[in-house]
Amino acid sequence: MWTVNNKANCQKYDNMDYFYDTKIFNLPKKRVYLQISSTGWDAGRILLTLYNNLTYFLSDMKKYTHAWLAMMAMKRLDMGDIPETEGTGKNPKEVQRYARSLVRWFKNYRDFVVQGAWYPDEVFSDQGSSHGAKYSIGDPNLPAPDFKKLPKTMEIYQLMKKQSPLHGKPFVIDGGNVCDRVNAMCHTIVDNFKIQFREEKGNPIGPSSTHMAMRFFILSHYLADSHMPLHCDSRKLEKVHAAIEKIWEDEVNKSYEIDKDNERFFYDPKGYPLATEKMTDLIKNVEEKIISRPFIFNWGNSKYSAWDYVSAVTESSYMLAYEMIPKGSKDMSGKEYKQTPEFERFYEYSSMLLADAVDSIARAWLHVWIRYRQWGPDKNKIIDNYTK
Ligand SMILES: [Zn+2]
Repeated sequence: MWTVNNKANCQKYDNMDYFYDTKIFNLPKKRVYLQISSTGWDAGRILLTLYNNLTYFLSDMKKYTHAWLAMMAMKRLDMGDIPETEGTGKNPKEVQRYARSLVRWFKNYRDFVVQGAWYPDEVFSDQGSSHGAKYSIGDPNLPAPDFKKLPKTMEIYQLMKKQSPLHGKPFVIDGGNVCDRVNAMCHTIVDNFKIQFREEKGNPIGPSSTHMAMRFFILSHYLADSHMPLHCDSRKLEKVHAAIEKIWEDEVNKSYEIDKDNERFFYDPKGYPLATEKMTDLIKNVEEKIISRPFIFNWGNSKYSAWDYVSAVTESSYMLAYEMIPKGSKDMSGKEYKQTPEFERFYEYSSMLLADAVDSIARAWLHVWIRYRQWGPDKNKIIDNYTK
């Protein structure tokens, strides 16, 4: 529903240029409010704004895909292989224990995963800035920047190092602050846990655990978006972008029993999304990878922070965008894209990048959890439900 809203109730949108002189933002229940500038407006400009916003919203990873990725990260922490902790100074068994304790904590709040993982798109509406980093191919005469390392189990990273003609070549980052967003979120989650730990129970300044769980799910959204190749590509490929994300969303919808009325998955006895009989090969593949892939706890380099890690992810995503949609391609419809030779590897690439996204979410969550637990409850030897 489109309504004209008064100025006092409007929030400032991050990317003002994109929206010309109108400001738009989303509120819960998919009601979109539009503020018209006081300098006057005309029907053409309104239509253009509506069109721009719609194509932008349509071209973001979809609701149940995001929720599913967060759920799969939980499953990975629960059932994944023994962690490899090389270079972090941590004992693998201890890290494994932390992974399981995080899952135990999460399971109390998993019903909020759909809303939480969708908050950035539905409410924050910062797609213009924080859901990626936009790369273009750089001047070949300029020196190439160093490409950052990722853990060796990250499939797209390994593949791009081997096969991308853009690897080791100059690039330009035209915009997007997903690295800052993720890094800041990791810090604020730890900070809020510390506040919760320090304050008396019931003190209004102490954040609730439900709120903390939701922040983890919000973090998962930004991490997942950094793995989406077209969130890391400056080219205008809106229709293909929307088509790719629709394919993934359809696959998730087909593969799981979803309680649409309550916006959550139905669960299997272990507490994970309940599979339908029609589970697709892509989804099966990702589920298989996230259980069997060894869990590497470190960020790929002992000097890295979450910022460097996400930056490295966006480099791989940029190179993959050009593998999936070659240089010189114009925006095409989903139908046209499916007829290109590149589409033959679409499902193979998708299973790799979606499993990588799950891996990143699990890795970042676990870092945050361990940082808090070792600062507070575990340092103070507090026995609670999560100390096992
Ligand atoms: Zn997004």
